[in-house]
Amino acid sequence: MKLFAPSYYNSFRCIGKECTKNCCIGWEIDVDDDTLNKYRELGGELGERIRQSIYKDGGGAHLKLCNGERCAHLRADNLCSLIIELGEEMIPEICREHPRFYNVYDGVCEVGVGLACPTAAKLITSANDYRPYEIGKIDIREAEEIGAELNACRAYFGAVCDFGKKASLFDTVVFADYHARVTLSDLLFDCLTRPDADEKITADAFSPCAADSTEYAYENGEARSAAALFSELEMLDSGYGEALCEAIEYGEREGEKAREFFAEFKGEFSALFHYFIYRHLLNGALDGGAHAVIKFAAISAYSILSLAQKSGKGIADEATDFSRNVEYSDTNVSSILEKAVAEEVGIGFILRILKPSDNC
Ligand code: SF4
Repeated sequence: MKLFAPSYYNSFRCIGKECTKNCCIGWEIDVDDDTLNKYRELGGELGERIRQSIYKDGGGAHLKLCNGERCAHLRADNLCSLIIELGEEMIPEICREHPRFYNVYDGVCEVGVGLACPTAAKLITSANDYRPYEIGKIDIREAEEIGAELNACRAYFGAVCDFGKKASLFDTVVFADYHARVTLSDLLFDCLTRPDADEKITADAFSPCAADSTEYAYENGEARSAAALFSELEMLDSGYGEALCEAIEYGEREGEKAREFFAEFKGEFSALFHYFIYRHLLNGALDGGAHAVIKFAAISAYSILSLAQKSGKGIADEATDFSRNVEYSDTNVSSILEKAVAEEVGIGFILRILKPSDNC
């Protein structure tokens, strides 16, 4: 199976004990069946100690968390005692793979690093090339068979990346939104209804001049509707949901100040926008619709920048908090996508900030 990744992917290195948001603290750490079997076979005091550190619930086996919600095997110096005593092959799969995500389809696997890791977040927010390239092969047997839909989504994302290299951020968001709503939706419908739909859909299907920015008028109350997408989600940090909703409305209220901030950090906005599309497009397109994914990507990038402007913290730090609270859960993402479709949430309030004039 061909493996694709954005060009920044291979630069990722875990910084281990230097990490400020260590993934061995505060997360439920699953123990997969293969690792559990290895632990069952381990003899002596060490084997017993590891088995004692595992608990089971309806979701499977997990490593216990101790004081400060630290993994039972995280030493005081923030190094992992399992790696030190047994080697990396003896840690659970989730620990080896974090913060990577894989989208696996027939013949193609797309991999990336997720914003929930602060080191990955720095890499992602400073990237300027978002297109996935083939980086090798991977042996994965369980894959979803989706053929033509995959080609359509990959062609769409390639077209958005190419368009964004030549166009302004405002025009790129309009282009992405328009083609998700119109062209890609039609192509996906064709793929679902005609088993012989062309599997060789290319980026040419997404014409650069099709989008009409006058369709994207700003309507009062859009920011409030966008904020409502995030209410009732299960978030990790108490109070995060309220802070997020406030920040979404803050950008709308601040007008000129927000425009200046967004103009200064348009590279970060663009990197985040593309990251969310790359990570969620195909699953989301089959789930809640491609157009909902683009709204999610635009609103998420906007929220992160608004949070950063309001708090004075770095954009990468805010992106990590956003991902840990919102994106970590597939249930959260599905709920946002479904609501975005059902409640027809608009993104005119974001485009108004991205375009430094009032006439959009
Ligand atoms: S969050 Fe990222 S950098 Fe930090 S310990 Fe985990 S993988 Fe390493």
